[in-house]
Amino acid sequence: MEHLDLSPWRVAHKSVLNLDQFDTRPPDQLPAESDALAAHTKKLSERLNHLQATLHAARSCSVLLVLQGMDTAGKDGAIRHVFSQVSPLGVRAVAFGAPTQEELQHDFLWRVHSKVPALGELAIFNRSHYEDVLVTRVRGLIDQATCEMRFRHIQHFESLLHESGTIILKCYLHISKHEQKKRLQARLDDPNKQWKLQPSDFTDRKLWPHFMRAYEEALSATSSSHAPWYVVPADSKPHRDLFIAALLVQVLEKLDLKMPKSAFSLSEVRLDG
Ligand code: ADP
Repeated sequence: MEHLDLSPWRVAHKSVLNLDQFDTRPPDQLPAESDALAAHTKKLSERLNHLQATLHAARSCSVLLVLQGMDTAGKDGAIRHVFSQVSPLGVRAVAFGAPTQEELQHDFLWRVHSKVPALGELAIFNRSHYEDVLVTRVRGLIDQATCEMRFRHIQHFESLLHESGTIILKCYLHISKHEQKKRLQARLDDPNKQWKLQPSDFTDRKLWPHFMRAYEEALSATSSSHAPWYVVPADSKPHRDLFIAALLVQVLEKLDLKMPKSAFSLSEVRLDG
């Protein structure tokens, strides 16, 4: 499954994107939900651990995984499962909530730039600079002209990162409105999950079609060869995790990273005792 061709889910730059045409359910060529499927994701995650260790040792590039999606789309869950076998020393997850007063005094990329991965690092953005062209837009906090200006700023920002050695992958976790209803209901019903609920979960749900249109525009305007967007079918959690793990493994394998040689002559080392 790590050889699965993921190109059908990749967004072409400036394409006319219609998210209704992307299935939120897993593709037919993948097996149904099963222990075997979860075991396969675990295997990919173990492979990811090895690739991350090489990335860390080589320090020649960095990886940035951006996760976006509607509330309950599974950003937290994907991070938990896809990176379950990766050393906590090797990954850094950053969540972007509503900006603070201080952050609002700066340009919208100010708080983001300081969190990008250094060479050898793998960083995951749980929400990101894309909130500044999505939620802000849908809630009417910015106008169309500002949004288009921000698309340009994002493209330049991501080019800067790419040319500085960052591999960028962006995943939109695509769930249906029906699936979100089930997940919100599950949170309402479970006292251990109620803390996760925010009033905005319900107000944003009412704006679902507006969010879809904003996502379509943002993904199409900012998907590029060096920072592609993928529309990840996310109604099934195990398939969502498998997709993201397979994507990361495919991209990291292609880099063909090698463990560096020792920085000094090992033949001269004499162990005492
Ligand atoms: P999550 O929903 O990701 O689990 P929170 O409950 O902390 O996390 O919600 C974060 C909230 O902050 C979301 O409603 C999101 O839309 C909002 N947010 C994130 N970035 C921005 C931004 N730049 N401007 C306005 N709101 C934002």
